Amino acid sequence: PDASALARAESLIGSIPDYPQPGVVFRDITPLLADAAALRATIDALLEPFAGGFDVVAGIEARGFLLAGAAAVAAGVGLVPIRKAGKLPRPAASVSYALEYGTAAIEMHDDLPRGTRVLLLDDVLATGGTLAAGRELVHALGSEVIGTAALLEIDVLGGRAALGDAPLHSLFHV
Ligand code: AMP
Repeated sequence: PDASALARAESLIGSIPDYPQPGVVFRDITPLLADAAALRATIDALLEPFAGGFDVVAGIEARGFLLAGAAAVAAGVGLVPIRKAGKLPRPAASVSYALEYGTAAIEMHDDLPRGTRVLLLDDVLATGGTLAAGRELVHALGSEVIGTAALLEIDVLGGRAALGDAPLHSLFHV
């Protein structure tokens, strides 16, 4: 990937204090997505460590979808959406996970052949609960998570530990 485009991509991630609630700094990737060279460099760099090692990319709703769509086409593989509960039109596997207040669930259709090698993508790794649930979901359906990639890892929240020892590639860190 183009190093200067990657540096520019990092500079295009916005920080919105106190959104969606007081005390949270929301990391906004929309300016990065809107920049052609930054988007291209970001997708290339996210995929680089996993090149040739996966059969599909799975993206987690909603911002993971944006990365996964671009990544799937760039890598020449298919795309699997992992959705928030209640959105999929057919019976789906479901995994619940804890949020700071309450719980959430994510769901996925059972459309992949057993043993499919999946690269899991999301925009931000915070506590790791979301990506850990995504891994559990893929495994429950008989596929293999060969790696997990996030655009931005919030190091202080320690989410990396929630993902066990599967390879995790975070492009940028705060
Ligand atoms: P977690 O499960 O705690 O790792 O949270 C990750 C999920 O919540 C991802 O799908 C992110 O899109 C979203 N998220 C968590 N914290 C932030 C943040 N500070 N800025 C933007 N998105 C966030």
